[in-house]
Amino acid sequence: MKYCPYCKSTLIKQQKSHALRYRCQNKTCAYVNWNNPIPVVAVIVEVSSGVVLAHNVKWQKDFYSVISGFLESNESPEACAVRETKEELNLTVEKIDLVGCYEYPANNQIIIAYHVKAFGVIKLNHELDDYRIVPVSELKPWQGGTGRAIKDWIKRREPSDKKVPADAKLISMKRVYQSYNYFSKNLLWFYRVAQRRSMSRYRQICSKTFCYERST
Ligand SMILES: [Zn+2]
Repeated sequence: MKYCPYCKSTLIKQQKSHALRYRCQNKTCAYVNWNNPIPVVAVIVEVSSGVVLAHNVKWQKDFYSVISGFLESNESPEACAVRETKEELNLTVEKIDLVGCYEYPANNQIIIAYHVKAFGVIKLNHELDDYRIVPVSELKPWQGGTGRAIKDWIKRREPSDKKVPADAKLISMKRVYQSYNYFSKNLLWFYRVAQRRSMSRYRQICSKTFCYERST
């Protein structure tokens, strides 16, 4: 920016409020370019089989990311996330959560990131030319920007959302059975030991056994 957007005078760089900023030379105008970051809404769109990553027509061939867009005037960030999901992917949001806010100095933006659960048939708008649905376990968050939002979202996911191995219940039942089996098999031996030693020694051994079981 070279000229004042109000009076068209030349802008000069000057120290103001702890930083060098462009300000208008015209003293009656006194315009200052504060260069505040622009808010951008990013949306981690989750469908039944994973997260939708889209390819922007302007991006390098192999770069796919979550969708994002600028806030309209008088629009809440949440409404923007719902709108962008519909506009860019043609998906309808059924659940929305705020992930966090992230600075993105490279583009002088502040990213307000949401996670949404959405449904429908994907239809890309003119800004996008391809998409991929990536399972959450295969997401590779990049440094900075929306990558940090993805990293935080993965960390914070509810346990019920995480992929539970189908045999998890079976494994835990097996462990309970093994613990029980181990203790009952050794009970007779403990009893014999207790007969030979005092009852307090017996209790000590039993408590040790319980500790051992708990630590496995
Ligand atoms: Zn001016």
